[in-house]
Amino acid sequence: MIGYLTRKVFYRNLTSELTEIILTENGFSINQPFGAKPKLYNWEDLQTIRFSDNYNEVIVEKSDGQIALNNNHIGWYELIQYVPSTFKEFDFKYVAELIDSLKSCGVCGIVAVKENKCLVCETVAWNEEMNENKFDYLKSKQSEFYSDRISNGKEVKKIAEPEHGFKADKNWRLYILIN
Ligand SMILES: [Zn+2]
Repeated sequence: MIGYLTRKVFYRNLTSELTEIILTENGFSINQPFGAKPKLYNWEDLQTIRFSDNYNEVIVEKSDGQIALNNNHIGWYELIQYVPSTFKEFDFKYVAELIDSLKSCGVCGIVAVKENKCLVCETVAWNEEMNENKFDYLKSKQSEFYSDRISNGKEVKKIAEPEHGFKADKNWRLYILIN
C-alpha cells in the first residue's frame, strides 16, 4: 500500500493525465480517476476563462475560487473549442490558429500533430531525418500502437474517426493487417 504523500508525489502526473474533461449541455464536467466524484461546471456560473501565460492551462474563475485545467487532461483541446464567445478575455484567436496548424497523424489518422508530435497517440511524426522510410515507420508505429490495444481487448478501427475535438483524416490508412 502506497501512502498518501508518496502517492501524491509519484502519481501526480498520472492523475493529471487521467483526468477527463467532458462537455455537457450547459458547461463541462471534470472527471478525476480513482473513483472521485465528477465536478460539474456550468458556463453561466463562471466569471472568467482564460489561458495561463504559457498557454498550457486554462484558468477558470468562479465566485468561490479558481481551477486550472492542464492541457494533458483528456478533452482539453475539445473544451477550448467550445468556450462560449461571451467570455471576452478568452483567446479565441489562439484556439483557431492552434487547431488550424494541426497536421494529420499518419499513425492514428487524427488531425492532431502539433510541433511534430501527435496529441492523441503521442507518436513523433515521420520526417526526412529518420533512417526508416515513411511507410516502414508508419507500419511499425501502427503495430506498436494497435497491438497494445488488441491485447487489451479494444477494438481497432479501420477508418479514422474524430475524437477529443480533433478531426479525422479521411485519407488515413491502416498499414498493418488485423485478423
Ligand atoms: Zn496520432
